[in-house]
Amino acid sequence: MPFIPHVIAGREVESLDSNRFPTINPWTRQPWAEVALGSQADVNAAVNAARQAFDQGSWPRMGFQERGRILHRLADLIEKNSEEFSRTDTLDMGKPISDMRSKDVPRAASNFRFFADHARLTAAESFPSDAGYHVYTRYEPAGVVAAITPWNFPLMLETWKVAPALAWGNTVVLKPAEDTPSSAWLLAKYALEAGMPPGVFNVVHGLGPDSAGQALSESPDIDRITFTGESATGRIIARAAASNLVPVSLELGGKGANLVFADADLALAVEWSIKAIFNNAGQVCLAGSRLYVQKLVFDRFVSEFVTAAEKLRLGDPMLETTQVGPLASQQHFNKVSGYFDVICRDGGSILTGGIADGWQVRPTVVVSLPEHSRAMCEEIFGPVAVISPFETEEEAVRLANDTPYGLNAILFTESLRRGHRVSAALKGGTVWVNCFFIRDLRAPFGGSGDSGIGREGGTYSREFFTEPKAVVMDVG
Ligand code: NAD
Repeated sequence: MPFIPHVIAGREVESLDSNRFPTINPWTRQPWAEVALGSQADVNAAVNAARQAFDQGSWPRMGFQERGRILHRLADLIEKNSEEFSRTDTLDMGKPISDMRSKDVPRAASNFRFFADHARLTAAESFPSDAGYHVYTRYEPAGVVAAITPWNFPLMLETWKVAPALAWGNTVVLKPAEDTPSSAWLLAKYALEAGMPPGVFNVVHGLGPDSAGQALSESPDIDRITFTGESATGRIIARAAASNLVPVSLELGGKGANLVFADADLALAVEWSIKAIFNNAGQVCLAGSRLYVQKLVFDRFVSEFVTAAEKLRLGDPMLETTQVGPLASQQHFNKVSGYFDVICRDGGSILTGGIADGWQVRPTVVVSLPEHSRAMCEEIFGPVAVISPFETEEEAVRLANDTPYGLNAILFTESLRRGHRVSAALKGGTVWVNCFFIRDLRAPFGGSGDSGIGREGGTYSREFFTEPKAVVMDVG
């Protein structure tokens, strides 16, 4: 069986106590590889390596040009080895391999290219003054960055955090999710091949509580924590960061609303809304899981949506034709299937979908669910769309905003005025109008409330991954 090691100080290593855990292929439900199970001691070794590479190594002192060249070489290697990356994430979490090939791997490469170029090309402020002083800002690397990532977009989210941290001259310790450890190992391997000095990018595998995740977030020798995962875990990480006074960026859960107005292009709304909830089997923080459709077009929309949902091809994620794979783990399958009991108990009506073989859930469409059902309020994180009618724009906005989350919202309308007006009224770090999941890496990304703290992307990543310094010079 393949072995997935840690990568610490430029070397692929076992855990110091030699402990391992299996990673399970959700399609076969069998282990496909063994993974080094990190503990406090392995995390210490990785943090020490990153600290040494930061304090004494060339990486933070290298110019943007040279660092950028290495990051672009890494992007080249990701593209060149697209198939290997695609297979590992698909084996680990059951994501359709066609999505890996066409979306996640290209995006992982572009994360490195974008942040390398962004760091090189962004200007810093200067504040010349008549009083004879010249003041300017230096964006200096923060130090050792701890990155802790979830399983739903393994490679894509690892690179989303690691790329800006490295581009700004930091060193990194990444703890990938225990269900999806493999692409992080590949990434660290290829970073070395691209010419990144040892110790700059380290990977430690392991679990969260009482394991590598907790040890990393509580380490007294880190300078930043960037975390993506569940809101409950985010609270624990925030407490650890607070006790060491370490700045933290939290990208957490969501329960996105998707508003379809009667003046929308209905075919377009159906097409995007299907993607918004069934892509990646609904295991998407940004999923448009609560659909609100204006009464005038409700029946037509629901009927077209159900027809489209039934056309999605469920099955073996290794097949290029599969559109919806199994859920990522037994534990997650149990959680999602538990919501079917809630839906039935609360009087929801399932128009199509349901549980299938193994850890599969068919694209499911639910109507007539009361507003305060747990299935309406909590993040299901599976392929379950709940559709409810509304009458007025005010009602739609009220329903959409009635959530402790604040990650994103989607709306469909052909009215320019309504598009702007409702975007302004909706809670969320991102609002998509007549589209979904389109990302511009210069734009802020993140959420408020239970969806997190802070923003990343473009200059927002710079603010987080650097220590801005004001230099005040007497030029009088
Ligand atoms: P999770 O919180 O269970 O785990 C995320 C990571 O945290 C894993 O690496 C895990 O090992 C680690 N972890 C768990 N407990 C920890 C602890 N006590 N201390 C330190 N580390 C710990 O989340 P998940 O189930 O892997 O991911 C799904 C969640 O992520 C969903 O809620 C989803 O909405 C969210 N998510 C958010 C975004 C976003 O950008 N806002 C993107 C993707 C996923």
